[in-house]
This record gives sequence, C-alpha cells and structure tokens, in this order.
Amino acid sequence: MFSRTLTKLISSRKKGPRVLVVGGMHGNEPVGVRWFEAFQEKLARGELTLTRGEAHFLFGNPEAFARGVRHMGFDLNRAFRPSLLEQSPPASADVARAQEIARLLEGEQYDAVVDFHSVSRGDVAMVVTRVEREDDDNVIAETAVGVPPAFPIIFAYQEGDVPGMFVDWARKHLKAEQAYAVECGNHTSQLGVGRVWAFVRWLLGERLAMVEGAWPEDASLANAQTSRKVYRVVARIDASADFRWELPEERLHSEEFVEEGEVYARREGKALCAPEPSYLMMPAVTFAPQDEAIAFLCRKVGG
Ligand SMILES: [Zn+2]
Repeated sequence: MFSRTLTKLISSRKKGPRVLVVGGMHGNEPVGVRWFEAFQEKLARGELTLTRGEAHFLFGNPEAFARGVRHMGFDLNRAFRPSLLEQSPPASADVARAQEIARLLEGEQYDAVVDFHSVSRGDVAMVVTRVEREDDDNVIAETAVGVPPAFPIIFAYQEGDVPGMFVDWARKHLKAEQAYAVECGNHTSQLGVGRVWAFVRWLLGERLAMVEGAWPEDASLANAQTSRKVYRVVARIDASADFRWELPEERLHSEEFVEEGEVYARREGKALCAPEPSYLMMPAVTFAPQDEAIAFLCRKVGG
C-alpha cells in the first residue's frame, strides 16, 4: 500500500507552492501515515481539492513501521548528517533508508517541509522549530505567532541541539524556507490525526492556499488551548553507558520543572545539575547508550 518512493500529488489546475509532508519517520508514530490515507480518500471523493501546486508525501521508515518499532537500530531522524549519509556500507537499515531518501529527494525543492511525529510521554502537541543562536527571546517568541492553536507549545532548538534531523537537512538541501517537525501528542492519542489535520489546514489551506474544500471537523480543534508557551533549549542531554536519571519516572515528562542546581541525572557517578531554572522536554525513559538528545533542559521564553 505504501511506497518507499515519493507519492506526488500534482494539481492539474495551476502551478504553485511545493510541499513535502513526511509521516512514519519513526515506525511507532503512525499519525502522519494515517492522515495521508485519509487525505488521499478525501481527494478521491472530491471533498478536498488540490487547487494549485504540488503536495508530495514521503513514508519515512516503512520497515520500522511494519514492525511497530521506532527504528531498526539507529534513529532515522538523527541519520541525516554527512558522516552517515556517506557511510559505506551503511551501518544499519535505518542509515540505508536515510541514504535512499537523500537520493530520492535529490534535485527536489520545496517551499515547505513538515514531518509529523508523536511522543511517548504525555500528550503534548508542539511545533518544533529551529532558531539561531543569536536570536533573542523576543525574536523566538515571534515564531509562535500564527501557528495553529491545536499546538500550544513551541519548542525552539538551535544548531547542534538535535543533530541529524531530517527537517534540518531538508532546510539546507531542499531549500525549504519553512521546515517543521510537529509532535501531535501521544503515540496513542485519539486527537493525533486531528492535530495533523489542524496543521495541514493551517499550512496548505490558509498559508499556502493550495487545498480547498470540506475540511474534517477535527481539523480546527476548536477546544485547543489558546495560551502559547515557547521553550528554548538550554542544554541537550545525551545518553551514555553509565547515564541514569535521578528524577523519579513520574517526573520524566515534558514541561516538568527542574530547579536551578537540582540533580536530574548522573553520568559516571557524577551529578548532572540544571544550570538554571529549567523545564525538561521530551525525556526518553528507555534509550540506548549511544542515543543523543534523549531530553532537553529548556528556558521558558517570556516567563
Ligand atoms: Zn518521532
């Protein structure tokens, strides 16, 4: 049913923006894939119409998806870096897939790229966006403007915080000025696909004006929170053979407050302390020793 290649939907009416939507980059996060099935059905039934431009869909990691696992040994969404894209032979099936994706997209250019994910802890819905190191908090707060209300959280990272992410590679190699990774709540959330619809309606419907018609009711998520919180990465937390959390498992959730100086983990027996009052974001409870960016300590922008 799903192809390892790109699925290209091209408007017969007129030229316009080019958008790449990615789902299933992590095999245990089905929202983007489920959304694309529904989107194709709505186009086929004439309920929605692609009025201009092109919308391409990429199924990130079909092998991991078929097995219901995050990855096959190496996180695909950390594999888009030169050392791995040029690795020969590729060290894992995921790295091979990253290389295949890079070849598949060679020569393509997009106005926008969006990669849909979900989280293992809690039901947080957030837009993950890159900011520059020199950007001050006011500039970062402005990135929150216009993002649909179904996403109450903006997670702002800087270069080096999450190495090898697909959207960063896409920003550079596919010339995508807008590139978002979007967390649509928990893997099992009933609202997950609705959150994808809400983002797609905002991006393809309102912002790029390339899809029209009867959007599904849950595409607005009218009950979503209206207050927006922006978190900026202060420190990235990597795993290692001797890394262990000091926070009890019930505190390993996004937005968990960690006091300045509080010991949140240990490495080689040495205490790791929060350098400033921080919020823990996207902590992984299970991880492999070589995993990078298993959590982040963040500052809340604007309070
Ligand atoms: Zn993911």
